[in-house]
Amino acid sequence: MQDKLTHCRVILARPRSFCAGVVRAIDIVERALELYGAPVYVRHEIVHNRQVVDRLKGMGAIFVDDVEDVPVGAVTIFSAHGVSKKVEAEAQGRQLDVIDATCPLVRRVHREGQNYAERGYDVLLVGHAGHAEVEGTRGQIDGPVQVIGTLSDAENVVVSDPERVAYITQTTLSMFDTEEMIAVLKRRFPNIVGPDTRDICYATQNRQRSVLELAAQVEAVLVVGSANSSNAGRLQQIAEEAGVASYLIDTPAMIKRRWFDGVSSIGITAGASTPESSVQDVIAHLAQFLHIEVETLDGKDEHVKFRLPDRLSRPQGPSSDAYIMTHAAK
Ligand code: SF4
Repeated sequence: MQDKLTHCRVILARPRSFCAGVVRAIDIVERALELYGAPVYVRHEIVHNRQVVDRLKGMGAIFVDDVEDVPVGAVTIFSAHGVSKKVEAEAQGRQLDVIDATCPLVRRVHREGQNYAERGYDVLLVGHAGHAEVEGTRGQIDGPVQVIGTLSDAENVVVSDPERVAYITQTTLSMFDTEEMIAVLKRRFPNIVGPDTRDICYATQNRQRSVLELAAQVEAVLVVGSANSSNAGRLQQIAEEAGVASYLIDTPAMIKRRWFDGVSSIGITAGASTPESSVQDVIAHLAQFLHIEVETLDGKDEHVKFRLPDRLSRPQGPSSDAYIMTHAAK
């Protein structure tokens, strides 16, 4: 057990916490509540973060797993992860007033996949089967799509024509795992086409590079994020693979003091769906039993902003559903 006098350096990753897609998705729910009043319905967690979802629930958002649970004609928001064409059709069948909060970078992957399918390629989707984004992407492509989640999947996948194979990827994967899987696919299908790791979004790549830098400088890493956040989970995995004890925590209550026995430096980062306030809560919690000095990595500035849909734009705001990327890591 450590006493209050134990000195510890706390180093914060940069960048960390919200990405542009998450900011836009949350803004869409808040703006819809402001314009149309509660309740508004949200299919799936708008982003994978407990605190964010609970706060929006408190404001009048109702989260549902299925559009069948939404009253006919109600204002309904699709989450940042995107949805399949089947879900879009079901929503239309119920005459739902849909506002789509799918991240523009996820939309871009949908378009890539559909484009390959239209050109007659077998599409391989590198990602985690069952994840909301993967299910949405798979269901946006008219043609055969197989999910590649492991090296073994990459080694064993069977395609109809090895000369016409394409791949796309989930936006929140580990860059390092993905590179390995793509290398296997390229060895097996030399003419395969795809984006390398460019589908892994700027925010994911920046946070992963940053946690790697952090892991080289500290003895333990705390990743703040919910267990179902792919983005946060990959940060924890990368720190652990770098050889540093690494813990994924949703709230300070999950922290165990024994993690820091004999530790004099702690790194903190947060997934793209984690609010910065959760990071500050963790720092305040550590300060209750450690004498901490907080510093921040130099890191990379992010200036990416995505516009709101026209119908939700504020009078002085942008007026297009298109998105802008002023500074991305691609
Ligand atoms: Fe979009 Fe990337 Fe954020 Fe996902 S993590 S919402 S793809 S910017």
